[in-house]
Amino acid sequence: MADNDIKQSTPSTSSDDEWLRQYDELAERFNALYEKGTERGFETMLQALDKAKEELVNAKQMSLERGEQLRRFLERDLREMVQAAEEKGEDLLQKTAADPTKAGALASLATALELAGKALLGMSKKMRDPLTYHTGEITSAGTLVCKQCGEKLHFDKTARIPPCPKCKGTEFVKTL
Ligand SMILES: [Zn+2]
Repeated sequence: MADNDIKQSTPSTSSDDEWLRQYDELAERFNALYEKGTERGFETMLQALDKAKEELVNAKQMSLERGEQLRRFLERDLREMVQAAEEKGEDLLQKTAADPTKAGALASLATALELAGKALLGMSKKMRDPLTYHTGEITSAGTLVCKQCGEKLHFDKTARIPPCPKCKGTEFVKTL
């Protein structure tokens, strides 16, 4: 695993591609596991996320360290989407799930959220903190807004977050 650690700390285009691919894989596995289950609450989503990570790590698809990190990024994207659904209602979930331009992890998350539907609405009151996205993290498709200057960064697929191209800021909030 030492070799992997070194690769992770010296990002190159090819290793970044691997991160993004693994992120989409984790989201896909999460969605498949969530679909199989019968419970639809948010806790069940987190359990499915844990299980997805475990399966990919056990199958040597990614290191434990990588799995933990990607799981953390994916949980943040998931919470952000649930919060958005809380604010904008169930329509948003359906609209996002039905949008064929949504790629990679976002498509998987949207499908899971559509399944969750009403079970999720009203359950996320304790997750009200505005979520901050940082340069260097990985996120599903969507739009990030720079906290410092308001610049919008659009991603049509899973991406690693760059510094703000305008002010070099490193903190963002996400809108769908
Ligand atoms: Zn900025």
